[in-house]
Formats: sequence, structure tokens, C-alpha cells
Amino acid sequence: MTRKTGHIALVGAGPGALDLLTLRAHSRIKDADVVLYDRLVDPAIVDLARTGAERIYVGKEVGRCAWPQGRIDRLIVAKAKLGLRVVRLKSGDPSVFGRACEEIAAARAAGIEVEIVPGVTAASAAAASIATPLTERGETDSLILTTGTARPGDAAPDRARLAYPGTSMAFYMAVQRAAEVQADLLAAGAPAACPVDIVERASTPSERHVQTTLGQLSQSIAEQGVQNPAILFIRYPKSLAAALSGAARIIAA
Ligand code: SAH
Repeated sequence: MTRKTGHIALVGAGPGALDLLTLRAHSRIKDADVVLYDRLVDPAIVDLARTGAERIYVGKEVGRCAWPQGRIDRLIVAKAKLGLRVVRLKSGDPSVFGRACEEIAAARAAGIEVEIVPGVTAASAAAASIATPLTERGETDSLILTTGTARPGDAAPDRARLAYPGTSMAFYMAVQRAAEVQADLLAAGAPAACPVDIVERASTPSERHVQTTLGQLSQSIAEQGVQNPAILFIRYPKSLAAALSGAARIIAA
């Protein structure tokens, strides 16, 4: 039975592992009439939809649009206007680098009810996989989620603001931009010794962890053949800043 007015749910599918899906996400997927999903969403999650539900792949490659965002916006609105329950599945959390704002705006402009169902974002899953918490009391008390890839034509995020002791940075979409990220942070004064963890395909059977330092970052990526999807964690712990300033004082004395 279709309802008179449809509904759009932007649902976080988590980082890959089926059991990192929330119960609410599971419930929305089971109830959906139409499911639109991305490249990074595991097929096992799409398969939770009921047999009769329509499944539409709207995947994009990084920096290359298979489906322009406007076309996705129009499709979810058109389906909801038919009175259907639309689930727009997005990897991780829809609110983190998920283009959710455009879809929310399209739904609101059409007067359609829209809901966000949060998901486990890749940085959380990657930190859990390597058993290295995102923040550490006394060492890294600020957590930055940022991107290596800006919209074509936009300036990259101002990375000089990130290179402060006590900062833990999680870079999304940054594998191809690692050399630029590395150069910006070093130029802003972050030490080459900052620890870096790269987690490829976190929470999937082919997950991989590469440990390096800021100074060796792009070399390690090239040597290890790191591929997307991956999260780059770059940490600037307070104790590293203190140790380096102590060493500088000794040299100056
Ligand atoms: N909304 C998503 C992020 C989408 S942007 C979230 O909250 O996780 C796509 C980027 O997310 C990828 O380029 C990669 O940096 C990261 N990513 C997504 N899934 C990942 C995974 N399983 N392991 C590591 N990184 C992942």
C-alpha cells in the first residue's frame, strides 16, 4: 500500500561491516519502497531491503560524478511524490562528507518529510579497528574531521589552522592529495615526527593498516600502494610538541 505523501530517509550505512549498521537504519531499509545506494555501501546492506523494493545504484567515483547530484535530488523527490518511502543509503554517516545538505534542501523545497538516520563514520570505524582512540586526554583534545578533496574550483581547507599541538586529524578522501596535505602541515609547523595511521577499507575483510609519520607520508602511500577508501589519521600530540621544544632549548643553550 502506498501512502499519500512519501518520505525520504537519508540513512547511514556505516563503513562496510553489516553489524555496524544501526537498528534504526535496518528498520528504514526493511520498510523502504525504493533504495538508492552508493559505491561504498556493502551489497549485503542493500540486500536487507524487501524483495519487491526498487534498488537504484547512484554511485560516484571520487572527483568524478557517475550520477550528478541534481539528478539524485530530483529522483528521490519524484519517488517520494509518488507516495513511496525512499531510503537514500550513504556510506558511514550521511552528515559527514555525504552531500546530505543538497538532498535535504531538495526534499524541503518539495514539501517532503526528510529524516537523517546517523551511521558509524569511517573515522570512528578506522580508529576502532586499530584500537587507537580518536582523542586522548592530555595529548589530543581536539578532533578534526577534514577532507583532502575539495569541490572543483574551491580552495582546499586552510590546513595551517590544523597544525597545532593537541590536534587529532582524520582526513577523508585524501589518498590522492596526501602530498599536498603533508606539505601544507609541515609548512605550517607540524613536526615531521607526527604519527600517522592509514586505515584502508576499515571494517571490511580486506582492511589494511599502514603506520608512518608525517615526514614519510607520501612516500609510504606510494610504497605501500595505498588505495581509496582510506582514512588518514595525523596526530600532533602535546607531548611531541613539548619534547621538540625541550630539544630546541637544549640546542640553543
Ligand atoms: N559519509 C562517509 C564519508 C563519505 S566520503 C562517512 O561518514 O564515513 C568518502 C571517504 O570516506 C573515502 O574517500 C574515505 O576517505 C572514507 N571512507 C569511507 N568508507 C571507508 C572505509 N571503510 N575505510 C576507510 N575509509 C573510508
